[in-house]
Amino acid sequence: MIEYIKGQISSYFTDSLLRIVRDIVVHMKGASRSEDDPNSSSGLPQIEGDPHRGDASLEFIKHVCAVLALDQSVQHDVLVMRKNLLKYVRVREFAPEAEFRDPCHSFILSNVICSYCNDCRDLDLCRDSGLLSQEWRCGVLQCGQPYDREVMENALVQIARQRERLYHLQDLVCLRCNQVKAAHLSEQCACAGSFRCKEDATEFRSKMQVFFNIALRQKFQLLQECTSWILELRL
Ligand SMILES: [Zn+2]
Ligand SMILES: [Zn+2]
Repeated sequence: MIEYIKGQISSYFTDSLLRIVRDIVVHMKGASRSEDDPNSSSGLPQIEGDPHRGDASLEFIKHVCAVLALDQSVQHDVLVMRKNLLKYVRVREFAPEAEFRDPCHSFILSNVICSYCNDCRDLDLCRDSGLLSQEWRCGVLQCGQPYDREVMENALVQIARQRERLYHLQDLVCLRCNQVKAAHLSEQCACAGSFRCKEDATEFRSKMQVFFNIALRQKFQLLQECTSWILELRL
């Protein structure tokens, strides 16, 4: 079975994916010619500082290969195919833009304990289908006790506040030598490079947005107030 799938990946899947990628590239070229603004041609949102974001063929390759690579037994063959597909769109195999990033942000609340059966587990608050459809309940089949919402909201508020604190207390790093800034008052690094924050503001905001979304969905008033206040400060 594994040998068969390996063969399929190196022949059938590689061929058809190459064809699809070629079609996307051709289509995108045509679309960008017919529009004035070259940035809006792909139909995907552009993010500043990431020129490859919005490259539809590259995103396609990354997503398809990430899904196929979930099968551990054929991972090597998927990597070979991925390398060939990336070569077609002129992206190096280990380039940062070739790395797959899960587009769906989530948050895992660890060590949630059921008050009835003492079952302890980590909950993926945005992706666990059992949590999305209904009230948050213990996952043990014979139990199903609703979780204490107040305890969970409290834990989330604590984490959101701590993240905010960490953001404000973060280190500055040098743009040139990547060393952490040690001298408090200097405006430039010893190597004459300027400093930047270790954690980017947009990164911080998107993490906070996840908490805000959880608060909205679960009607956690306190968490909503806390996160909207943090987010609004940096609007
Ligand atoms: Zn339980
Ligand atoms: Zn430096």
